[in-house]
This record gives sequence, structure tokens and C-alpha cells, in this order.
Amino acid sequence: MEHDGLHEVVVVGAGPAGLATAIALAGRGVSTALVTGPDRGADHRTTALLEGSVRILEGFGLWSLIAERAAPLRDMRIADATRRLVRAPEVTFRSAEIGLEAFGYNIENDALRESLLAAAMEQSGLHIARTALERLDLSGEAATLHLADGHTLRARLVVGADGRQSTVRTAAGITMRTRAYPQVAFTATVRHTRPHEDTSTEFHTESGPFTLVPLPGDRSSIVCVVTDREAVRLLGLDDAALARELEARASSVLGRFEMVGGRGAFPLAAETAETLVGERVALVSEAAHVMPPIGAQGLNLGLRDAGALVEIVAGAVAAGRDPGSATVLERYAAHRKRDISGRMTAVDLLNRSLLSDLVPVQGVRGFGLYLLDRVGPLRRKLMRLGIGERAA
Ligand SMILES: Cc1cc2nc3c(=O)[nH]c(=O)nc-3n(C[C@H](O)[C@H](O)[C@H](O)COP(=O)(O)OP(=O)(O)OC[C@H]3O[C@@H](n4cnc5c(N)ncnc54)[C@H](O)[C@@H]3O)c2cc1C
Repeated sequence: MEHDGLHEVVVVGAGPAGLATAIALAGRGVSTALVTGPDRGADHRTTALLEGSVRILEGFGLWSLIAERAAPLRDMRIADATRRLVRAPEVTFRSAEIGLEAFGYNIENDALRESLLAAAMEQSGLHIARTALERLDLSGEAATLHLADGHTLRARLVVGADGRQSTVRTAAGITMRTRAYPQVAFTATVRHTRPHEDTSTEFHTESGPFTLVPLPGDRSSIVCVVTDREAVRLLGLDDAALARELEARASSVLGRFEMVGGRGAFPLAAETAETLVGERVALVSEAAHVMPPIGAQGLNLGLRDAGALVEIVAGAVAAGRDPGSATVLERYAAHRKRDISGRMTAVDLLNRSLLSDLVPVQGVRGFGLYLLDRVGPLRRKLMRLGIGERAA
């Protein structure tokens, strides 16, 4: 139902979460507009989409587009590369143990966004505004969005998928609880002389994890959690020196490295919105929660927000209810609360255990990983939780 520029939903932000949400809502017959924001520069990150996200994207009819540009993650190896007294044993999780083809699939963020944007352009019933939201008026029966190109849109519900610095969140008066960590995630992509065999390898070091994640071909993406001084030093190295240094950190498990593509550096932080919803507003993904890139949880959590919101909103619209009403929004917030707070706590604890110099904490961590490796049911339960299944 769209009249006089009034949409049921306007999604703000064309990152992966906003694109998936807008396409899925329009696909379910909900009158939807997408405000893309300004054109973005290259993003040198990759995203491991875990099994739970694959199922959501399949449900949205989007997975086949993405699959052709992604590499499977069949096994995950975790190695303790600290120099501590109590070191954890190496652990390998195999997706076959829980009856899966792969834990997930790794894709370059630019490829993911390009595929989703192409699908959005093809999606019938989706109105796309290639401009930014400047101001949001949230009083009354519908929200009014004032866009940078001078146009306005009206909507029963505004979905804030506009990332860390969300304009929608600020307009709704929703504050963030923030915790900064003394670390930076350095990202790069390498080509290597040995095949990765669909295995990701995570070395735990004193400053944080150093992870190699497979990409299509003999390429892997690297996320290396370091101090800010170290990140500046790595950014300043020439390609040959950087390749040598990263290869040494990877103990040459994938042979010789050659740098391909650019590099990035992302200060680590954990941020959670005080609430997921406000008047005629629902937040998804990084507009609502930012976490350190440990265990590939960030966008996976965001896509679970998208999956829940699409179900709830499409159901409300089909039943003739207002998708921006307090009842609908409260259902969404209640549905997502436990998953979001659980993941934020788990990732924070894991990150802090890596930073801790206390021997008892190291011991607990070593023991925890030991248990994971030895105790079948617990290990399988954790693997299932890790890929996005909900706790029982
Ligand atoms: C080093 C690193 C590695 C990571 N690896 C993984 C991983 O393996 N797996 C995983 O699940 N997650 C991972 N993450 C997290 C993941 O990258 C983020 O969760 C994801 O990119 C967030 O997507 P999003 O759509 O919420 O936000 P974004 O991608 O930030 O998109 C927000 C969009 O909103 C637009 N926008 C902003 N303001 C406005 C406005 N006023 N009007 C209109 N549009 C606007 C922006 O232009 C942008 O396009 C990683 C993060 C880091 C830092």
C-alpha cells in the first residue's frame, strides 16, 4: 500500500544488512523504499557468513547470488600462539561433525554489497533513493525523512541500517553503551603458494587473534588484532615487507604470501544501543551493536536482526496492522534481546581473556579450549551456537 509518497517501511543504509532487509520486505509485498547513503569507498574486509546467515539469505532468495563469489569454511583451526605458562592445545572444529557441508562462507565485503545492490535494483516494488538521510521527523502517524537531494519520504516504520554512526538512531534519541579496547583490527588479503583446503586458522596471540580466512582460489583474508602503534607500523610497510611479516605470523602454514588488494585498520569497540526500537524506528545490525571481529559474529548477528524484523513486519502488514506501532516494535525488540546480549558478552569475554596477563585466566581459557576439544556434546553445542543457532 503506497499513496502520496507514503511507504510502509523506509530502510536507511545500503550496507549488507540494509540491502538484505529492504529486498526481503519488498519481496514479501511490503511497500518499501531504500535510502542508500553516499557512495562508499572500497572496503578491504571480508565477511564469514555462517550457516545461520546462509539460511536467512536463502529464505530471502539471495543466497545463490552470493554463493558463487564466496569460499566455503569447512574446518576451523584455533592455535595458541601466546608465550604464556598455560597454553591451550590446538583445536580443530570440523563442520562434518555437526552434519554440515561448511560452517559458513567467506566473501569480500565489496562483492557482497555489489551482489546485493544488483538484486535490489532488480527487486520489483522496491523504491531506491540514491542519496543520504539528513533529518528525520518522528512525530505523528508516519515518520518524515528529509533527504540530501531535497526530496522527502514518509513511512510508517523507519529501519535504521545506517551503521555505526546511525543518523536514525540519533534522531530517535537512542544512546549507545560503549566500551573501547586498546586494539585495532588490521585487515589485508594475500595470495599464497599452498592451498587453504577450506580451513580457516586462528592464532591467538597476546594482543588478540591473527586469523586467516579462505577466499576463492589460493587467497585468504587476514584479520590481525594488534595495538594501535603496531597497526600504524603495518600500514606503513611496503607490500613485500608486509607479506614477509604476515607470513611469519602465520608460521608459513600456507606457504609464501603475496599481497593482493588494499589494507584497512578498524579500532576495536563494543557498542550496544540502550534499546533496539524508538517511536516508528527499529535498528538493525551495526546501527544497534558493534563488536570486535572475533568469532565472525558481527554481520551474522545483524542478519539475524534482519530475519526477525522481516518476519514480524511482513506478518503485521499482511494482517493489516501498522508496522511502526509500539506492539510490533516491542515484539521485535523482545525477540532479539537475548541473542544480542549473549553474543556481546561472549565476544567481550573471549577478547578480554586474550588480553589478560593473569595466569588463572589463562588457565581457564586453556581449560575451556581443552574441554571444547574433548567433550563431544558440549563441543557440538558450542559449534551450533557459534554458527547462529539460538540457545535452547
Ligand atoms: C575487521 C573486521 C572483520 C569483520 N569480519 C566479520 C565476519 O567475518 N563476519 C561477520 O559477520 N562480521 C564481521 N565483521 C562485522 C561486519 O563487517 C559488520 O557487522 C557489517 O559490515 C555491518 O554491516 P551493516 O550493514 O550493519 O553496516 P555498514 O556496512 O556500515 O552499512 C551502513 C550503510 O549505511 C549508510 N549510511 C550511513 N549514514 C547514512 C545516512 N545518513 N543516510 C543513508 N545511508 C547512510 C552507509 O553509507 C553504509 O552503506 C567484521 C568487522 C571488522 C571491523
